Amino acid sequence: MSAPQYEADNIFAKILRGEIPCHAIYEDEHTLSFMDIMPQSEGHCLVIPKVPSRNLLDADPTTFMWLMPTVQKIARAAKRAFHAHGVQIVQFNEAPAGQTVFHLHFHVIPVYEGTELKLHAREAQDGGHLAHNAELIREALKFNS
Ligand code: AMP
Repeated sequence: MSAPQYEADNIFAKILRGEIPCHAIYEDEHTLSFMDIMPQSEGHCLVIPKVPSRNLLDADPTTFMWLMPTVQKIARAAKRAFHAHGVQIVQFNEAPAGQTVFHLHFHVIPVYEGTELKLHAREAQDGGHLAHNAELIREALKFNS
């Protein structure tokens, strides 16, 4: 059985091409971060590479050289922005493992003591709320170390 291929019509590829909007937080030459529209917690956001790959399994290893520093940067900023108690970094590979969008991405999910995470990709959050949260993380990025 041949390995599944990257398909350029996935939603994150469309975001990268500017064909659909996102609540952007951070962008550099190699990576983009934006709010997850169905967050599992307050401040849940995503980090993606600009180079195409379905997930971790088919990615060129050099992709992670650029990606992981952005994941760390966004995790620190999201934790700070929302006074979270911790941060989950989550990443799914192929549908049976929970992947629903087939462009490599890392979830950055702030965690709050005593508050359970919502279910994965279930409930859309209001756009104004997402825009506000993106702004809070962008502000927190200014203090990133
Ligand atoms: P995964 O199951 O790891 O592939 O997660 C895909 C994530 O993308 C889910 O958490 C969705 O809520 C999120 N998502 C889907 N469409 C969009 C979109 N247009 N903008 C931002 N996040 C999205």
